[in-house]
Parts: sequence; C-alpha cells; structure tokens
Amino acid sequence: WSSPLSGLAHRKSLNDSLEGEVKAFLLDEGQLHTYDDLTKVNPVTPTTVLKCLQARYRAKVFYTHAGCTLVALNPFQPVPDLYSLDVMKEYHCAPQPQESKPHIFIVAEEAYRNVQGQVEPVNQSLVVSGESGAGKTWTSRCLMKYYATVAASSSLMKSQDTVERIEKRVLDSNPIMEAFGNACTLRNSNSSRFGKYIQLQLNRSQLLVGASVQTYLLEKTRVAGQPVNERNFHIFYQAKDCFDETVEAMVHLGINAEKQGHIFRILAGLLQLGNVIFCSAMDESQPCDLEEKSKDFMHRCASLLCVPVEELQTCLRVRTLRAGKQSALFKPCSLADCSVRRDCLAKVIYAQLFEWLVTFINDSICADNSTWCNFIGLLDVYGFECFQFNNLEQLCINYANEKLQQHFVAHYLKAQQEEYVSEGLEWSFVKYQDNQGCLDLIEGIPTGVFSLLNEECLLNRASDAKQFRVRLEKELSDNGSMSWDKFSKQPHFTVAHYAGKVSYQIEGMMEKNKDPVPPELIHLLQKSENPLLHQLFADRDPVGQGTRGLRQVVTVVSKFKNSLENLMKILHSTTPHYTRCIKPNTDCRPLTFKKEEVIMQLEACGIVETIHISAAGFPIRSCDCTDFVLVLQALMDSLAEAELDDAEDLQEAMPTELDPILRARGSVQLSSIQEPVMVRGWPMGLALASAPT
Ligand code: ADP
Ligand code: MG
Repeated sequence: WSSPLSGLAHRKSLNDSLEGEVKAFLLDEGQLHTYDDLTKVNPVTPTTVLKCLQARYRAKVFYTHAGCTLVALNPFQPVPDLYSLDVMKEYHCAPQPQESKPHIFIVAEEAYRNVQGQVEPVNQSLVVSGESGAGKTWTSRCLMKYYATVAASSSLMKSQDTVERIEKRVLDSNPIMEAFGNACTLRNSNSSRFGKYIQLQLNRSQLLVGASVQTYLLEKTRVAGQPVNERNFHIFYQAKDCFDETVEAMVHLGINAEKQGHIFRILAGLLQLGNVIFCSAMDESQPCDLEEKSKDFMHRCASLLCVPVEELQTCLRVRTLRAGKQSALFKPCSLADCSVRRDCLAKVIYAQLFEWLVTFINDSICADNSTWCNFIGLLDVYGFECFQFNNLEQLCINYANEKLQQHFVAHYLKAQQEEYVSEGLEWSFVKYQDNQGCLDLIEGIPTGVFSLLNEECLLNRASDAKQFRVRLEKELSDNGSMSWDKFSKQPHFTVAHYAGKVSYQIEGMMEKNKDPVPPELIHLLQKSENPLLHQLFADRDPVGQGTRGLRQVVTVVSKFKNSLENLMKILHSTTPHYTRCIKPNTDCRPLTFKKEEVIMQLEACGIVETIHISAAGFPIRSCDCTDFVLVLQALMDSLAEAELDDAEDLQEAMPTELDPILRARGSVQLSSIQEPVMVRGWPMGLALASAPT
C-alpha cells in the first residue's frame, strides 16, 4: 500500500486476488501444489500442511509462505535458474515482490525495502533456522549474494582498481569461514560447526559498504577427534580439493602469502601433533614415553609450531605445580592426561586461529562507522540437536534455539494476539508453547542449570557427576521442564525443550564448562617463533586458567550466555524475518520427501500455530458457506462500486453492510496480502484466506 497505483490497475489486482482465493479454496487435493501460502490450506492441520508441502516438493516448488514465515524445502540438488541474476533482478524490480512466486528473494527484498522505513530507517534481521543439513548456510549465502548484487556499491568507489570490490570481499568471507569452521558430518557433508551472525552494512543510499561477522561456539573438540565416519574441519583436507578457492579468498581479503605461510605451518603442526601417541614409561615415576614413530611426529610438530621440541615434550607430559612464588614442583602426567594435554593444545591453537581469522575478516570487510547507517543481519545458527549422547555443547545449542524460539513467539505470536486484544477484538487464543519454563530452567539465576554448573565449577574441587545430579534434583525438581530416569546408571537430566525432550549426560559436563588449559601450554606458545602463533597467545594470561585464578575464569556457559544475550538485544532492536529450512529426508537425497521426518520438523518449529495466527485476523469459529458467500459478495460489490486510488479510498469505500456481517458472524477468516487496511478498527485483509469449515 505504500506505492499508490492507478485506480484501475489496483482494482484489477484486487479482484484478481479475490478470484484467486475463491478458486484456491475450491481446489481439490490434486491442486495442492498451487497453494503459495499455507494459510490458504483449509483446515490448517499438521496433515494438510504436510500434504501441501509434499505436493509442492513433488512439483519442484521449494518455497512456500506460512503467513509471516517462509518455509524452504531443501531440494538437495542444484535448481537451475532459481537463483540467477535475472531472477534476482525480477524480485528486486517487482512493484510488489510479495505477489511473485514464493522465494527467499521475497524475504530479502522485503527486508531491503523495510530498511528505508517509512518514518525512520529500521535495521532488519533475517533469521534462518532449521536442523543440520536443512539449508541454513546455503540460504544465508544466497541472501548475501542477493544483497551483494542488488546493493552493489563498487561502481561508486574510486579505488576499485586497487582494492578488491567490497561485495566480493564480503562474499569471500564465506569460503574462508567454511573451510575453517565447517566439516563433513553424518547429517551434512558441509556442516557448519559454529554459529554466525553477519551484519551487512548499508549506507544512506542503501548500498552495501561493508559487513561484520560475529561467531558463536566453534566446535573445537572436532580438531582433536571426530565421531565415527565424520571428518575434521575442511581445511585439513583441502590440500587437494578447494584449496585454490580458499587461498584466493584469503588473498582477496588481504591475508598475504607470508601470513598464509604462518597459518598453514600451524595447521601442518596440528596434523603432526595429532599423530603423537604416548605410552607408559618403564619406571612409573618417570614421564610417559612416546611410541617409536611418534618421536618424528613430535619433532616435526615442534618445528612447524616453531617451539623447542624438548619443551613441547615436557609440557605435554609433566605437570608444573607452583610451590610459592619462585619454586615449582614437577609431576609426571598419567598416560590419559598426556593425551588430554595433546588434544587441549590442538584445540586451543585451532580455536584461537579461528578467532584470529574472524577478526581479520572483520577488519577487512567492516566499513567505517561514518559510512554506514543501517544493517541487515543474517543469522545462521546450528539447529536443535538431540543425539544418543548429549553434553554441554548440545545444551548450549538447544538453549540458543530456545532463545530464538522465544524471540519468534514474542515477536509474532504474542505481539499479534495482544494487538487484537488491545483493539477490543474478540480473539480465541491459539495455544502455542510458551517456553519460558524451559528457559528459566536453563538460565535462571541463582537456580538454573547454568548457574548451578558454574557454581560447581568455581568450587574448585574434583567434580562429581552424581553429586551434581543430586544438587540439580534438589534445586530444580519444581520445574516441569526437568526430569530424569532414577534407574539410569549414567547420571543425567532430561529437559523438555519446545522441540522435544533431550537427555544430557552430566559426566564430563563440569570439565567442559571449565575448559582448562594448562598454563605450561600457554607459556610454551608464547615462546613460539611463528609470529602468528606467538601473536595468538601474546595477551593471554596463562595463570588465569590455573586453579588459583579460577574464580576469574569465564566459563563456557557464561561466555556463551553473554554472547547470546547480546545477540538477542540486537535482534530485538531489528525487524525480524523468519525462514524455516526443512530437510525433506535425512539421507540428503534429491527430491525425496519423508513425511515422518518433515512432520517432526514442522512440529519442532510450531509452524501450524504460526499459520493459524498469521491467517486469523478474526476469531475462528465454525463458519458455514452462507457466511462466506455473504461476506465475499458484499466485499466484491463494494470494490466494484468504488473508485480506488489508494488505501484511504478503499477504507472509505468499504460498505457499511460489510461491518455488521463480520461483527455478527465473527466467523470468517480474513488475512492480508500486505499491510491490513484498518476499517473501523478491523484489520481488513484483502484476501479471504479461509474457506468455511
Ligand atoms: P545447514 O546449514 O542447515 O546445516 P546447508 O545449508 O549446509 O545446511 O545445506 C546442506 C546441503 O543441502 C548443501 O550443501 C546443499 O548441497 C544442499 N542445499 C541446501 N539448500 C539448497 C538449495 N536451495 N538448492 C540446492 N541445494 C541446496
Ligand atoms: Mg550450516
């Protein structure tokens, strides 16, 4: 409604869309694939929604609106021309993109136009969710390409020849971050092992002038060990495959040959370190030995990391206990501890390197504060996880998903329902799952799982899983979201998440939360003659990790919770747009739609409730055909009579008879194509979305 069209054209499109709606509701199941918006499906039930999506998938239609949300089905195969330059232009130039076929570009374009805001510019967030392999990263990349194309600013920049175009640099951050942060897992051959929020910075003319990236919780344990049939991060395999692309992207972002050399030496060092195997010493009072072949690996590792080999060997096998300021005691580590230290060294180096890369990328692509004024944020975070064994990582990931779900519920569902109530409209509340109870359980202060876990870690005693379980039970037994199987041998607790129940093992959780790095390792790395490796640890306080300083140590969950809170603050300050990616089958097979698997995902993201609320501008009671026809007739008549130039004219033209019919019957579901027009306090949609039940 923001762009007034000529009366005639306007009326035609209104009539067309009305006719379209009437047809839609009369269509049979054979035509289900033509439903562009799930709010048109009638009745809205998990089964009908599923059938519609299946029909569309069969017809190779991968995007469907679900009211305010876009559902994206993963085709698991390239779809020629779906994302071409021409298609981008088509959506970008369309007077009403929403009227075009559902596409991720509609969401992109809507956000892009919203940034300009009618009163003042509004930052936008595009939240892409879904389980692993559903298509989140693919979608974010696609969105980035869209903005890099339609909002390209390079033609305006003078220094084009010397500096790689900003759009290119922003896009090049993807291959680098994916090389270092993605891996082949059982569920996705290009699975992101970190969360990412990228802000695309726009100037006053809405051109892309830069970007900044924030990452969350890299799964660094992967560098030291992977589940069966999964792989390490891509970069370790790229000396064959995709290496050139990564290096090219590095060059574009300004990581020069010298720095690349430092990076690859560090990575090669980690590969050597991974081959090192310890064995028990003959004399138990002595440090562990190295297996024969491992001696070579150790030497090569030390040489690549540019640290003295003796010191490397020592700090992996001997614990230094401070006894007063000057003196120290040395205690050989157990065989198991040696391996823990080896893995710890690899993890801390890799995590720090990843962080350095992200900072470098930000320095390279972030625009000067004075040059940008608004942003469009793209959020791509790991979806809900439930494995056979779940631990702290899954708890953090699922907690993040709970927060996002709450944001979604708060933003769309609550806000919309409350708006109806505040306008005095009769409204039967659609039941949706409020997940506050679950969030209280996890983040509550002082008695939430995170707080209790932190407390336990700060007590600085040997952590005992059983004891912690008892504590949880004592403190949290009132919370309905928590349960446990009393007879289970392994201490665990079960959380009823909005997307399903997940059991978390307690064993190892405290250690993961402390994530200690022996100070000897940090001291060693600070001595490295590899300038990059040295730089990575130069500012780190080694003792801060130790037992005495533990109280100051930021635990994994507190760090994660903080970064998530910041993210939520940003999200709350923006206008969000939600895309739900759905994985049609777990085998990643092209064009295969497994109903049971899809329905679980639909339930997990509450899509049916979303549709109900999006569709229902009015309370939905039973409604017979007479009601529907009556209202439709009145509406058609009024439109035929009216000379419509703009929204205001339409409001004027709405016949007085329409209002009483609606009020009396209160039974027809109306929804809007775009902004609802307010008619005497009624949000009057122009599409009759619902058929009589
Ligand atoms: P997620 O980030 O949700 O774990 P990805 O975005 O990595 O999942 O998608 C997994 C794989 O699915 C991709 O590598 C790609 O092969 C395929 N895929 C996802 N979306 C599309 C799409 N729109 N068109 C074609 N293939 C896709
Ligand atoms: Mg991903």
